[in-house]
Amino acid sequence: MKQIFIAGNWKSNKTTSEAIEWLREFKIKTSNFKLKTTPQVVLCASFTLLYPLKKEISRLGIPIKLGAQDVSPYGAGAYTGAVNAVQIKEIADWVIIGHSERRKFFSETDELLQQEVEQAKSAGLGIIYCVPDDTTIVPGTVDVVAYEPVWAIGTGKSDTPENANSVIQTIKTVSKAGRVIYGGSVTRENVASFIAQPMIDGVLPGGASLSPETFYDLLVALAV
Ligand code: PEP
Repeated sequence: MKQIFIAGNWKSNKTTSEAIEWLREFKIKTSNFKLKTTPQVVLCASFTLLYPLKKEISRLGIPIKLGAQDVSPYGAGAYTGAVNAVQIKEIADWVIIGHSERRKFFSETDELLQQEVEQAKSAGLGIIYCVPDDTTIVPGTVDVVAYEPVWAIGTGKSDTPENANSVIQTIKTVSKAGRVIYGGSVTRENVASFIAQPMIDGVLPGGASLSPETFYDLLVALAV
């Protein structure tokens, strides 16, 4: 049985107190819940939230790993405003690179993303690399690829599980990616149908990760 990988992407949402409250509610909801297989759960949050989340995850003993949503393409030095990979690795284990919102709103190019991948890799961060289709180049060293069609992100219109499976099959064939997940309007209603596809190793929910109830519901849906 495949180990399912779920990476919640909070995007630019939540204050520290809201993030801590999310964890406490999630802990209460999951305390009596036994899954048939244990998914690998990563929560990708704003930089400001990572340290308080880390402390609270450890205090509550929740099996969630943390991820950042971006990383500097440079190392330490005179890069005002940038957060570098070594700084992130002090607190988190994962980073999302190449999300379509970074490509669109922050003009991140494939060349820049390659630099980010190199920085993240050398710091020992796990990399979730987002691509909008099966023609986008995937750097060889990433750990997880997320197929996220742009039209499906935050729109309520997901890809069909069959098409996502076929695109992911191509991504697996042309890249060295071992694990490829699907993202784009994943909900508790549709998550199981994506996971049931043979090529799909997990999901990247944005909106459905924002409340502990809906995130918990995704896990419940995967357990049946
Ligand atoms: C995302 O954050 O990458 C995403 C797919 O968001 P949503 O699940 O809200 O479509």
